[in-house]
Amino acid sequence: MGITLTDDKFIPHYNPETMETNLPGLYLAGVVCGGLDTHLWFIENSRVNADMIIADILLKR
Ligand SMILES: Cc1cc2nc3c(=O)[nH]c(=O)nc-3n(C[C@H](O)[C@H](O)[C@H](O)COP(=O)(O)OP(=O)(O)OC[C@H]3O[C@@H](n4cnc5c(N)ncnc54)[C@H](O)[C@@H]3O)c2cc1C
Repeated sequence: MGITLTDDKFIPHYNPETMETNLPGLYLAGVVCGGLDTHLWFIENSRVNADMIIADILLKR
């Protein structure tokens, strides 16, 4: 889709404040944010992504 990935672990580029990728309007949530480091993301630390994304979308309306 054109999201920038790191060379080594395919970690996608996103704004850690909003979860928005390098493509405006395209957001990431959950374990996909870890690229190959899926062990770093759990329900506990990824469910907040939804609130961050909605907050950013509402801010831009
Ligand atoms: C064995 C195991 C135990 C775990 N135990 C815990 C735990 O105790 N506590 C905890 O917090 N976390 C635990 N986790 C991690 C937790 O499961 C994940 O962090 C969480 O499921 C990530 O949610 P997600 O929505 O990002 O991704 P997933 O839950 O992986 O959801 C992604 C969805 O996208 C679908 N999909 C994939 N490709 C496509 C496509 N091209 N088109 C359409 N749909 C697609 C998949 O089928 C899947 O349904 C565990 C994980 C595993 C594997």
